[in-house]
Amino acid sequence: MASVSAAALCWSSSVSIPPSSKPSAPLPRRFSTVVKSAVSVERKRLNLQKSEEIFVAAKDLIPGGVNSPVRAFKSVGGQPIVFDSAKGSRVWDVDGNEYIDYVLSWGPAIIGHADDKVNAALIEAVRKGTSFGAPCVLENTLAEMVISAVPSVEMVRFVNSGTEACMGALRLARAFTGRSKIIKFEGCYHGHADSFLVKAGSGVATLGLPDSPGVPKAATADTLTAPYNDIETVKTLFENHKGEIAAVIIEPVVGNAGFIVPKPDFLNALRHITKEESSLLIFDEVMTGFRLSYGGAQEYFDITPDLTTLGKIIGGGLPVGAYGGKREIMEMVAPSGPMYQAGTLSGNPLAMTAGIHTLKRLQESECYEYLDKITGKLVSGILEAGKQAGHELFGGYIRGMFGFFFTEGPVNSYEDAKKSDTAKFARFHRGMLEEGVYLAPSQFEAGFTSIAHTSLDIEQTIEAAKKVFQSI
Ligand SMILES: *Cc1c(COP(=O)(O)O)cnc(C)c1O
Repeated sequence: MASVSAAALCWSSSVSIPPSSKPSAPLPRRFSTVVKSAVSVERKRLNLQKSEEIFVAAKDLIPGGVNSPVRAFKSVGGQPIVFDSAKGSRVWDVDGNEYIDYVLSWGPAIIGHADDKVNAALIEAVRKGTSFGAPCVLENTLAEMVISAVPSVEMVRFVNSGTEACMGALRLARAFTGRSKIIKFEGCYHGHADSFLVKAGSGVATLGLPDSPGVPKAATADTLTAPYNDIETVKTLFENHKGEIAAVIIEPVVGNAGFIVPKPDFLNALRHITKEESSLLIFDEVMTGFRLSYGGAQEYFDITPDLTTLGKIIGGGLPVGAYGGKREIMEMVAPSGPMYQAGTLSGNPLAMTAGIHTLKRLQESECYEYLDKITGKLVSGILEAGKQAGHELFGGYIRGMFGFFFTEGPVNSYEDAKKSDTAKFARFHRGMLEEGVYLAPSQFEAGFTSIAHTSLDIEQTIEAAKKVFQSI
């Protein structure tokens, strides 16, 4: 489903939004009275005065004014928008502007922001204490939910971020196999641990070079890279490093280089070669877990890795990560085994509560059908609008995850993704903001929908896109 074709967009029109997903938000300020014409009315430039003031102050206090780089809007220019609140599919900034949100906190808000049931459960949990640093039964509940949902996971360890999850999985793969090298793919992101911050493009070179100052050469020396969707390079790496490769780690669908899907059989081939070479296959499902389907990409593609990392959605908007896999591998983790890994706030009752109630909501029927329907409509609408305005566009979606590039495509790798006209994307991004649509502030990030997005949200977004495509 690399690009949207008519066939990919066959959805059932009978799917309706489950009642409890309808945002009980205050009526959208900007769209409440006029519906269809709201976006076609010429609006004044966004008033971002308070955002600007707060960001200027932040730059003096926090490096770059942000606590995570992409938030700074560097790749689209302009200045970041400072948020005040969020509900359902909408976010409001400190100047009172409202946006339809397709970032969703980079994925976690799949049931919409500030869901009433999640909030109620959180308030209840707060009353009982926010952290014990000791076992609590909620950890079992979420563990059971994750284990029964994700095919590869027989045991799970909770941590506090996707970064930690990937660090843990990597250490575990090395501990289990007694080998030190790993293969990762260019454009895939596995958090900011040293071993993953390797320069793209080192290909079959013997030494992975650090991609950030402060990362010692030794930390990346064992990280081999291959282009995404390139099984031949993977085979060569295995040949050149016989018996040395502990694991292959991959985003089964890439979201951190824009939206890139695996070619038919690519994941299968990885499963095959890792088995053959007694190496572990790690699916980094921090983004795709519970997003492409309830069982993640591994369920969607029917390929079971040895280890899986999770994050984002399983924390329901609170800081959570997890790694899990086969029992015999997971039992190596301390204290049941010798591989050390720990966390003061790991498994804390607030994070577990948000995760449990988010997953519960996703168990209700038709969530993923609904995501498929609205995301398909969104992406085909955007691609059509762009093409009609004469732009080269290539995009696609799976369920609640999507992306498009300003290039004719196809986009099968980071190399392909880089052909996108990022200056044009920046203009598009700014235009959409002006129209009340918040997209990820980088061409190289996937977009997300939630079950709180309505058909009307989608229509308004497409209308906005039509207008913006004309002006860039
Ligand atoms: C977001 C993400 C991470 C890192 O998670 P953090 O919680 O930001 O540390 C790792 N892998 C993938 C695939 C991600 O999308």
